[in-house]
Amino acid sequence: MQNPLLNPEEKDPVIEESLRPSSLQEFVGQKKVIQNLSIFVQAAKKRGEALDHVILSGPPGLGKTTLAFIIAREMGVQIKPTTGPVLEKPGDLAGLLTNLEKGDVLFIDEIHRLNPVIEEYLYSAMEDYKLDIVIDSGPNARSVQIELNHFTLVGATTRKGLLTAPLRARFGIDMRLDYYDAELLQRIAHRTAGILNFGITDKGAYEIARRSRGTPRIVNKLLRRTRDFAQVDGLDAIDDAIADKALNALDVDKNGLDEMDIRILKAIIENYKGGPVGLGTLAVAVGEDKGTIEEVYEPFLIKEGFMQRTPKGRVATAQSYKYLGVEEDNENAD
Ligand code: ATP
Repeated sequence: MQNPLLNPEEKDPVIEESLRPSSLQEFVGQKKVIQNLSIFVQAAKKRGEALDHVILSGPPGLGKTTLAFIIAREMGVQIKPTTGPVLEKPGDLAGLLTNLEKGDVLFIDEIHRLNPVIEEYLYSAMEDYKLDIVIDSGPNARSVQIELNHFTLVGATTRKGLLTAPLRARFGIDMRLDYYDAELLQRIAHRTAGILNFGITDKGAYEIARRSRGTPRIVNKLLRRTRDFAQVDGLDAIDDAIADKALNALDVDKNGLDEMDIRILKAIIENYKGGPVGLGTLAVAVGEDKGTIEEVYEPFLIKEGFMQRTPKGRVATAQSYKYLGVEEDNENAD
């Protein structure tokens, strides 16, 4: 069973709202993305134009929605958020687009899940700021063209590989968010504790950070649960001892690995003698979609040193053997 605390897709919208950084300066980490975005925003503002369309990709809980809101705020415009699967009919999209003022941001989360018909409509809207829609049906059917204000589409996706080439080509700004390292997550833990008005030591913040799967959303969840343990123990700050006690009680792994991470490592070691094993074979062995392994799980396991990607396939590292308590077969030792 997956530990829900480690599931980066489990959100609490109200809490998240209150913890969201509201400017590029306040956003912790993703330095390159932030630096580049800051240039693009300043340049668009200087020209008095809408920002080019932006695609934000990366695993869940790393700050894509947060960045979309920050972009709108930095540009000084309104943002209209929606998600791919919610837009069912062309009229849904038309309603949103025709309500956008010049420069406004339309944020489409999970843009890889857009209905293909809607996607087609989006092409001309993104490129020429025009929307051709058919009204009426049968012999009365006719096409009308609606002029739109120049807007910015910000799309977010955990699965960029699923976007069609024509849609991808229409985004002028393409940014990928990566897992955060423990030092950055430690800073996020300090920031969140400050907003919650609860004390935290450096070591306490670090203990939560290193067990949060490289993901700010998980830091925030673990921090709130740890605060409960601290308060019940009569503490006014989270230190490493209470963090360790709380996270052990909540079955949070020492390295922040979740059930699927472990299943992947076990499959490589137990079924394929440590690898190399091809992505497709691995996906079947663990019962997960190939693209999700490639775009969500693998980047974390590689970053944390548990897995390597070689031309022949995925290989488990010595660290994985140690973690799972399995003797390394010398033939395959690296
Ligand atoms: P999903 O794809 O699941 O919607 P997401 O990538 O859009 O996730 P967000 O909703 O933006 O992630 O972020 C999740 C939470 O993590 C938010 O509460 C936000 O405050 C916090 N967060 C994300 N990135 C940062 C950051 N760089 N600094 C501080 N807090 C952050």
